[in-house]
Amino acid sequence: MKVLVAVKRVVDYNVKIRIKPDGSGVDTANLKMSMNPFDEIAVEEAVRWKEKGHAAEVVLIGIGPQAAQDTLRTGLAMGADRAVLVKTETETEPLAVAKLIAAVAKTEKPDVILLGKQAIDDDSNQTGQMLAALLGLPQGTFISAAKPDEAGRITVIREIDGGLETLSLATPCVLTTDLRLNEPRYASLPNIMKAKKKPLDVTTPADLGVDVAPRLALLKVAEPPTRKAGVIVGSVAELVDKLKNEAKVL
Ligand code: AMP
Repeated sequence: MKVLVAVKRVVDYNVKIRIKPDGSGVDTANLKMSMNPFDEIAVEEAVRWKEKGHAAEVVLIGIGPQAAQDTLRTGLAMGADRAVLVKTETETEPLAVAKLIAAVAKTEKPDVILLGKQAIDDDSNQTGQMLAALLGLPQGTFISAAKPDEAGRITVIREIDGGLETLSLATPCVLTTDLRLNEPRYASLPNIMKAKKKPLDVTTPADLGVDVAPRLALLKVAEPPTRKAGVIVGSVAELVDKLKNEAKVL
């Protein structure tokens, strides 16, 4: 089985982001960037399948500027075999990303395409679903367990509002990872060194024949309103009084 894993470089989840003064977006200058946490889970899953003998090759795909290469190298240090960087300076929306992954999948012919359920910068939660539609493949989204079998099918458990749903999917298929699927490993120093020598091909949207021009216009980015400070009440009677007469909820 060959697995293609999508890996996005995003602002690190520990960073408190700043909005540009003109409200035109988030200021990403000099911020720590990391692999999208759900994509780390996707890489971990693919590497575990390789270690268990289910997967023969794990290929990473990243779309972004030259610096996205560093994120791909992190995935290679976790155990992936090789990577493809689709280099673009344009901010890519989920539809463009889905088209680019679809174009690479046509030549790579993976049995499974693994993505995160969402990128923590745009929180779109769209790319995997769009990709499955573009390729006409079955999809298992928000998976918290996955088990490939000898017959070339994959059983997945999906986290849905009402509980858990178990699906058996034919391959090729598209899967998106939820938080509880696994706990990603840290790359060891020797593996980080080895990853520097692993193959990393660079291509462009133009080479793949995909138009990545944005379809959406970003109107404004703003901070959420600051919450008013709370009050410590002295007694239950005072609380009840405030709920009745100030908040008027009783
Ligand atoms: P989104 O639909 O933007 O929330 O992203 C969902 C998933 O699509 C992410 O977790 C990644 O696996 C993949 N993805 C989105 N954008 C990119 C990108 N620029 N490069 C590689 N993978 C991406």
